[in-house]
Order: sequence, then structure tokens, then C-alpha cells
Amino acid sequence: MRPAELSPLFASARSLTGVGPRVEEMLRKAVRLPPGVTETRVVDLLWHTPTGIVDRRSAPTIASAVPGTIVTLEVRVLRHRPSPRGNTRAPYKVQVEDDSGRLDIVFFHAERRFVEAQLPVGETRFVSGRIERYNDNTQMTHPDYIVAPDKRDDLPMLEPVYPLTAGLSGKVLSKICRRAVERLPRLPEWQDPAWMKSQAWPAFHDAVVALHKPQDAGDVSNGSPFWQRLAYDELLAGQLALGLVRQKQKVQPGRRVSGDGRIRARIADALPFALTGAQRRALADIAADMNAPHRMLRLLQGDVGSGKTVVALMTMAMAVEAGGQAALMAPPEVLARQHVETIAPLAEKAGLRLAILTGREKGKARELVLRHLAAGEIDIVIGTHALFQPDVHFHDLGVAVIDEQHRFGVMQRLALRQKGDLNPDVLVMTATPIPRTLTLAFYGHLDVSVIDELPPGRQAIKTYWKLPYERAKVYEGVRKVIAEGKQAYFVCPMISESEKMQTQAAEDLYYRLSTEVYPDLRVGLLHGQMKPDAKEDVMLKFRAGELDVLVSTVVIEVGVDVPNAIAMVIEDANRFGLAQLHQLRGRVGRGSDQSYCVLVAEAKTEEARARLETMVATTDGFKIAEQDLRLRGPGQLMGTMQHGNLDLKIADLVKDARMIEVARDCSEWLLQIDLHLQLPEHQGILSQVQEHPVDKTLLTVS
Ligand code: ADP
Ligand code: MG
Repeated sequence: MRPAELSPLFASARSLTGVGPRVEEMLRKAVRLPPGVTETRVVDLLWHTPTGIVDRRSAPTIASAVPGTIVTLEVRVLRHRPSPRGNTRAPYKVQVEDDSGRLDIVFFHAERRFVEAQLPVGETRFVSGRIERYNDNTQMTHPDYIVAPDKRDDLPMLEPVYPLTAGLSGKVLSKICRRAVERLPRLPEWQDPAWMKSQAWPAFHDAVVALHKPQDAGDVSNGSPFWQRLAYDELLAGQLALGLVRQKQKVQPGRRVSGDGRIRARIADALPFALTGAQRRALADIAADMNAPHRMLRLLQGDVGSGKTVVALMTMAMAVEAGGQAALMAPPEVLARQHVETIAPLAEKAGLRLAILTGREKGKARELVLRHLAAGEIDIVIGTHALFQPDVHFHDLGVAVIDEQHRFGVMQRLALRQKGDLNPDVLVMTATPIPRTLTLAFYGHLDVSVIDELPPGRQAIKTYWKLPYERAKVYEGVRKVIAEGKQAYFVCPMISESEKMQTQAAEDLYYRLSTEVYPDLRVGLLHGQMKPDAKEDVMLKFRAGELDVLVSTVVIEVGVDVPNAIAMVIEDANRFGLAQLHQLRGRVGRGSDQSYCVLVAEAKTEEARARLETMVATTDGFKIAEQDLRLRGPGQLMGTMQHGNLDLKIADLVKDARMIEVARDCSEWLLQIDLHLQLPEHQGILSQVQEHPVDKTLLTVS
């Protein structure tokens, strides 16, 4: 429940003077409410923050006013010169003066009565607008403000500039926003007083007022204490929202899964390597979660090649040791099959009963798997979304592992889904390194483990950036690699989102390479419009070493694992985002041989150059993700991860990175002293928590 004094803020904007149905509709566009929201509320206007200000404080005399600047002048009205009859294109001019000189105020398409009422002859008026020179005359066309001396205070000396929409003038919008601000009551402070003092931050009320009625040009920029205070509040509200979701998850009944380690020991024996420290740390986190009485919801981040598959297998083994079953969901199908291939030999040695279930298992084969699953005669099942169709019943699903690579959609739904009265533990794996600030901001409700160490003996992939005219040399280099019995990928230029165009690009490159460049080599082609059988056929051939070169679209981005392929050429690499380049490059460097990645590109923009240089400089996925965040901002970055409405209104996850850590700590502390944010002094921040998108998508799901 929201305190009564706040309810005027949550009323429709139409409750404000001057806002009718038509204006309200324009407001909805201007403040960019998410689709589906049908009404602008007063509070939405408070968060419609200015992008700058118009400074009207300059009050020179007419003679000293600088053309091109915005000024506020005190003038006497001398005479009106309406446009001549029949010539509406000629302007209506009003001559005014002060002690220093004269000025024409110019109107186009003006109505005589209107102008006469605004500027009565012989009276004094304040006019504010841009000064111009025209044929030796000083003039001001369509002043922004014309006010009588007794209304002088209505003229905003520092006028905020808001993002607008067609039909809605800045003047109208700023007036409406000012009215909205008047609704904001003074609320008891929710921030810790010592912290407030150390930051020299204003009260919430004053901060909001300052954004809409700035006293100084700097007030509406990210660095101002007003802005910082509100940014911090926004981050804090986000952390509290995630914290509340986290609490809710923790009370979901789970079960204590504690295996005796016997299967894990057998797997470890069968592995040709020892686990890395990072893998062991992740497994310790997971074991602790599974052992706890509540449900596990853990995100495992690890760069491509960091060895997540073994961690998944060990996790599943824990559930089986405790008498349960385990599922590994890894779409698309190629990836699921690849996992089966890697895991099957280990499973066999460990005595685990393994099955696969994808869209391709049909009829009898599928029925058999379903029957065994329901009877508990399968320990581990690996598959695609097909695993979670309604007619799939587990005898006793202890843990679900989801290999999401870089798609996060499934996690949210699955994480909250109730299956029976005991919820399986959930481990989500992602190969997309997410900068820590983003993890905190968006996945703060999940526990996170990071595999931040590659298995030993890996050689960093050597990356080169070459210009298009150097192609011939690049092709020769690849030929040398192939002469040594190795294989190479060519990734074709990303020319459009359209599958068809993409296919065309792949076919063109394939044609050129197979006929002109490497007529003597075995070249294969892989693209998204091929039938699944044909795709798999090509992949199998490439894996078996029956192809030297594989030309592909970005379909190889996900999961393909051919250690003998040690070179990759990415054509028109400037067209790809950093995250995508990193994913693509991760297809090489999977064995112990030195691998190479060549980016063929012209850098047409500064940003493209920065991206290419980053790729050359580092193979560390986290560093690349940080750089991506700086270059593209969180919206874009998370957008590629298929996440919805994540826009922050005030805070900036790059500039305000430091604050989010503080907000995280503070939110934990607040929830400790006030579990449901019920104390009167927490009502103000609670109402912001309730506004948080996480709140809407997760908190309300029960
Ligand atoms: P990803 O995290 O990309 O899924 P994988 O699990 O496919 O990585 O592992 C990549 C490669 O590294 C595989 O060939 C795997 O066998 C190997 N690997 C995994 N863990 C280790 C380790 N601790 N030591 C040596 N090699 C390892
Ligand atoms: Mg993997």
C-alpha cells in the first residue's frame, strides 16, 4: 500500500490543469511510456528529465544584445505594422524600444487581435527569445515569452529543455512538468544521514524540483548533486526490487541435495585433466546452494572455452548421487548433440544413464525416452526446449542446467515456474561475460559464479586487423595453415538482418573462395537457411576433417567445437558488435595449437576503430564486455541478450558504476532492518521500488 500523501502523484496526468485527453496522449509519446501503458501519470512527468536548459538570464539593452543569443528584454511598445492586406506572407511587425535603441518583434501568419492584446501600444513588456540581425535591423521573431511587468515571475530564467513529441511545445511541456512537481510532497528521508552528509546530497524533494526548475545550467547534468542523488535512488530502488525478488525465491521450498561424491569421483577419474581453481570454486558454490534447504538459482558466467560443460556435468552428478535426475537444456539442437557427444563417454564410465530429447526425437523413440524419464530410469537428459514440454514428466528432477550462451529469455520464465511442490535447483550458464555493474543491476536477484580462468596450456588467440586490400596476403596465410593439416573458418559479411540476404552473402563468398581462391581445397558452406539435416551434414564433415575451409554466416557463433580449426577470417568485421566478434572468435583456440583470427575491415567510424582495436588488444571476454558497455551503453548491450525494458531513467551504468556497488550494500542493509520496507521513512523509496521494471516482471509473479 502506498501512503495517501503520495496518491496524487500516481493519478492520471489529466488531473493536472491544462492536460486534456489530447495533451495526455502527446505526453505519453514524449515521456516514452512502454507499449501497452495507456495513461500518463503525474509521476511519469517527474522522471521526464530535461536534456539541457535554455538560459534566459541575459538581460542586455537592445543596443548591446548579441545576435544569435537568447535574451530577455524590457521594452516599451511603440507601434504595430500589420502585414499589408492580401499579403499574408509579409510579416506583422511590432516596433518596440528601450533607452538604447529600437527592435522589431516579428510574427508570421499572426492574428491582429492576438498581437494587439499581447503587445498593447504604450505599455511595457518583458520579451524573451533569440536576437537576430536582419537588413541592419535588430529583431526578434516569435518571442518565446511576452509577459506584463506584474507577471515577470512567470518567465522562467532557466528553462529546462525536454525531449518533445510532435504537437507538444517545450513551453507547454515545461509548464505541465512544473505543475507535476508541485504535487510532490516532502517525504521523510530514507537515506542514511551520515551517507547523505558525506555526499553532500540534497533531499529527494529538492532534487526533483531542481531538475524541473533549475537554478543553474549544471543542475540538470549527470554531475550535479541533484542528479546524483536521484541516480543513486534509482539504483537503490533497483537493488531493493531485486533484493525483494531474491527473498521471495529464497522462501521457495527446495530440498537439500547432498550427494556422497561417488559419481563425481568417477567422472574426475575419467577426465584427462584436473579441474581449474575457478571450476572448483564454482562447484563449491553450487554444492553449497544445492545443500541448502532453499532453491538454487545461480548464474554461471564463463567465457567461451572456460570449461563450463564439466561444471554442468558435475552439478548434474550431485543431483543423481542424491537419488534424483538432472536435465541439461542447450538449444539449438547442434549444441545439445555436441554436449551429448562430450558427456556420453564420461557418463558411461561414471555409470550414468543418459538420454537425448530434442525436436528430432519423435514417435516411438520419444515415447521411450518419456517413459524412462517418468520411471526414473534415465539419470541425465540433454536436449532443447523439447525438454520442458508439458507432457514431459520427470520421476524426480533434482536440477535443471540451462546453457543459454547469450540468450536470457528462458531463464526468467523457468526460474519462476513451479513444478510440483519441490522446485528443481536451477543453474543457468552463459558464455557471455557480463560486466559486473550490469550483473548487479539486472541479475542481482541471482547468485553468480564466474569462471575467470582458462584451462592451463591455452595459447591466446593471435588477432590481426587487416584492411581489405590486404586480402590476398590473408588468403595466403590461411593456405599455409591448411597445408599443415589444420582447418579454417571464413565468416561472411553481415549485410542485413534478412536471412535471405545473409544467405546470398554466404553463397557469394563461398563461390569466390571455392572457385578463385582455393579451387584446389575442400570448401564447405553453412548458413541459416539450410535444412537441419544439410547443416548437420556439413558440420559433421568439417569436424571429421573432410573439409578444409568452412564458409559460414554467424550461425557458427553458437557452440561449434572443432579443435583442429585454428584460423578464422571475419570479413567486414566492422559490421559486427564486440560481443559478437568475441563469440565468433571463440570458435578457434579450442585446442592446444596456436590459433589465429583475422579481422578484415575498414574502420569507417571512430567506434568501429575502437572495437577492432579492442579485439586485437585482448581476448579477455570481461574486458571486451566492459568496453562494449562504454561504447554502446547498457540498453544496446542487454538488448542483444534479449532482455526487455531495462532503461534507467536517471542513472548511467557507466558513469555511475561506483554507486551501484554502494546501492547493493545499502539495499541489503535496509532489507535487514526493514524486511518489507514498511517503516514510514521507507515509503518514499518503496514507491520507487514498486515502479521498477524488475518489480513488474518478477515481483508480481507468485
Ligand atoms: P565452454 O565453457 O565454452 O562450454 P567447454 O566446457 O566446452 O567450454 O571446454 C572447452 C575445452 O576445454 C574442452 O575441450 C574441455 O574438455 C576443456 N577443458 C575443460 N576444463 C578443463 C580443464 N580443467 N583443464 C583442461 N582442459 C579443460
Ligand atoms: Mg559450452
